[in-house]
Amino acid sequence: MKIKLLSIFSLVIFNQAFAQSEKFYATTDTENAKELKAKFPNEIEIVGAAGNQSAIFLSEKAAEFLHHNVITHGPGYVYKSSKEEALSAINKVKKSNKILAFTIDQNAAVNSAIAKVSADNIKAHIQVLENYGTRHHTTAKAQTAVQDLKTKWQGLITAAGRTDVSVRVVNHVGTPMPSLVFTINGTTAPADFIIVGAHMDSITNNTANAPGADDDASGIATITEMIRILLDVNYKPAKTVEFMAFAAEEIGLVGSSEIAQNYALNGKNVVSFVQFDMTNYKGSSKDIYLTTDPYNSNDLNLFLIELMEHYNKTGTHAFTYGNTICNYGCSDHFSWADNGYDAAFPFEASFSQYNPNIHTTTDKLSNMGSSATHAAKFAKLGLEFIIETAKGSVLATSETANNNSVEIYVKDKSLNYRLAKETVESISIVDTSGKQLLESKNLLSFGKIDLNKINKGFYLAVFKTKSGKVITKKFILE
Ligand SMILES: [Zn+2]
Repeated sequence: MKIKLLSIFSLVIFNQAFAQSEKFYATTDTENAKELKAKFPNEIEIVGAAGNQSAIFLSEKAAEFLHHNVITHGPGYVYKSSKEEALSAINKVKKSNKILAFTIDQNAAVNSAIAKVSADNIKAHIQVLENYGTRHHTTAKAQTAVQDLKTKWQGLITAAGRTDVSVRVVNHVGTPMPSLVFTINGTTAPADFIIVGAHMDSITNNTANAPGADDDASGIATITEMIRILLDVNYKPAKTVEFMAFAAEEIGLVGSSEIAQNYALNGKNVVSFVQFDMTNYKGSSKDIYLTTDPYNSNDLNLFLIELMEHYNKTGTHAFTYGNTICNYGCSDHFSWADNGYDAAFPFEASFSQYNPNIHTTTDKLSNMGSSATHAAKFAKLGLEFIIETAKGSVLATSETANNNSVEIYVKDKSLNYRLAKETVESISIVDTSGKQLLESKNLLSFGKIDLNKINKGFYLAVFKTKSGKVITKKFILE
């Protein structure tokens, strides 16, 4: 939060309540709140607590500390416009866990889309975004960057000649910076939404110099490449597909939390949300790290694992995955999870090994190897996610032969299975972090796997057949 550094231009349009008060309301992890209270007794009030979350009234000094010293990638708190809003956020009843009915059967469409991903396009766009010098939410340059992105997205739509695709600017209460929403209307299930997001703003301790190439020009460039490809293949989803470039993520997920709350208040059915925030720094041995914080959807993480097992295990588009944690208010997917939606956040590295330049004036493309080959993997995963989840159920039933060739059910702590046409080579059980818990070989085409040593939770059974097929099935162990 850089309230003291606000320009006069920003002050005029900046939300009055937000700009005038030194302290503001937010929610955070209860452990964070206690730590802050001990360190800065006069800078923070804990106004309520529920579960592991607290509603707090804090100064910008305390917010700065939370942003830079508590172990999280994002701000570590979620900005709220009033005490009532903060209290209601922590007392919200969370949606119960369920199995999402996703299948994987769009091989032709997915493979042709991911073959079009260009790391050079992503790289060039990261450079364009870095060249603004700053996209700090209070600056005129941030406004220009959003308008320019709107022009770029609109240009792609116009070139494709589509009338069922649109871009809109969303203005906010908590920041002068707008967000951008790109919509492809669903053909048969337009009330169901599949959403992919990234954030447009950047931050350092110098408002005028915040290049933000990895955080999060990389995410914006990644989703823009996905948009380019979907229009290029004349993609028409059954469900409505949206891409969002959020404002003011860095000061408390302001843009995403206003939009997600608005969707929830209007009863919109967001089937799944995936965030791309920092995609271009390969800091770890594996490629894509799924974040497994408790507010993330286990089920959606499992589906992303299924997608990577199916499309990215071998061949031209092969990459590896691992898991990590990101903590409270880590990025914009938190806003969607907080409103009861299934949300996931695939990240560029293991948490302790992410890009060390973020939130500094050296967060530049030149410090990421001057290429975007890492980000290209995220664009592929994003395309796989969209094409497989936004398809219609009618299509799904006619094309699920592959998945239906294995039947499973869980009973008495055993996984019972039967393969219709195939001979099984091996069966492995994978948890929501992608970790393989057990593997069985020399099996019959029907039988049961003992799950007694496995804890309750969401799992994936991966069947490898003698003919080389991989068939995945999710299950819950209760
Ligand atoms: Zn970020």
